[in-house]
Amino acid sequence: GYRKGGYHAARPGDRFAGGRFVAQRKLGWGNFSTVWLAYDTLLSRFVALKIQKSARDYAHAALHEIELLSAAAKGDPTNSKCVIQLLDHFKHAGPNGKHICLVTEFLGDSLLRLIRYNRNKGIGLSRVREVCRSVLTGLDYMHRELGIIHTDLKPENVLLVSTINPSKDPVRSRLTPILKRPEGNQYRATSMSFSEKMLKTRARRAVAKILQRRVSLGGFTADMVKERSLDGISMKCKIVDFGNACWADQQGDGVIQTRQYRAPEVIIGSGYSYSADMWSFACMAFELATGDMLFAPNTCQGCSEDEDHLALMMETLGKMPKKIAISGARSKDYFNRYGDLKRVQRLRFWPLERVLVERYGFTEPDAKGLADFLRPILDFDPENRPTAAECLKHAWLN
Ligand code: ATP
Ligand code: MG
Ligand code: MG
Repeated sequence: GYRKGGYHAARPGDRFAGGRFVAQRKLGWGNFSTVWLAYDTLLSRFVALKIQKSARDYAHAALHEIELLSAAAKGDPTNSKCVIQLLDHFKHAGPNGKHICLVTEFLGDSLLRLIRYNRNKGIGLSRVREVCRSVLTGLDYMHRELGIIHTDLKPENVLLVSTINPSKDPVRSRLTPILKRPEGNQYRATSMSFSEKMLKTRARRAVAKILQRRVSLGGFTADMVKERSLDGISMKCKIVDFGNACWADQQGDGVIQTRQYRAPEVIIGSGYSYSADMWSFACMAFELATGDMLFAPNTCQGCSEDEDHLALMMETLGKMPKKIAISGARSKDYFNRYGDLKRVQRLRFWPLERVLVERYGFTEPDAKGLADFLRPILDFDPENRPTAAECLKHAWLN
């Protein structure tokens, strides 16, 4: 990681872009970058700073991400279309090389953490609906207005909107941004709120921890954190991480998407389009509702992860139509000429609606409602899947 061509090692208090942005604390990281909470001294607000690794390929990827996010920002001046907003970008020279940095709005935690935070039990159907509305709004914008396929939609890449307003929030207003590199702890409180003495106690550390969690969980209050309750949280969220996204008319022919969210046409190699994102969306909605991944394939005796994945799909969704099964560049690896899997013998059909009732304890009407919404999106034929705009009109969401 932190070597020539790799990550830039930032510290709280470090300044970027000629001093304008001051690093506060690390929010997260990925294969390409580290992401920091930063304070924008020009506009007096918190932002997120994505500092890309410096090697050429990473720089290239960052420029691509900037191109796509710029298009997204340009078409959404009121910032209401559920896609992360790019605010600025610049180069930063460090000991490991030149790093391209993206400045974006500061968002809250990812849906992945929300799912884990809720003890792998699902987040409740009304919140699932709200998240679905946001994500579909974002997808509809990307697909219909921008011509962009995200290609890596998953809980990790959808972030909650942080509801904290730094100037109005009673807890947050006690936080002063770090403008110089601090000696010890990253957080400082003003004299108004905490005494100097208290700052040195364990209580202070506990407060800092809650504040930190609250910031990262997109507006959770201390009580909510304590009770692990999500009541009253706005579930507005935004699609992030355009590092793998592509213009629909310039797509590559490689494998896209993270395994569990990968569409069948990608596995069998029969080409993909916007509808591949819709497949990932349905997988994600199921996971939000149940806390479990819809498809979590493994290699099994004598069969590959791909074959296990296709088998799992067919156990939940029924047999893949032969015309689809044999249509891909890799079809022959998995299917015989009758359109049956070559190396997986017995499939145990357990349809979605029954899984929701029998495994996850949903009531019959709840299971039927969710299954009616998801089932058409999980059509093996990408052409038959509803678009994001069509999904937004579905009765289950309204
Ligand atoms: P990947 O390896 O997934 O491609 P990446 O290097 O492209 O990762 P991102 O996925 O964009 O980086 O961001 C990494 C993590 O940083 C996210 O999962 C999230 O936890 C955090 N993060 C990114 N952007 C923001 C933001 N605007 N506000 C808050 N946290 C963010
Ligand atoms: Mg990511
Ligand atoms: Mg990325």
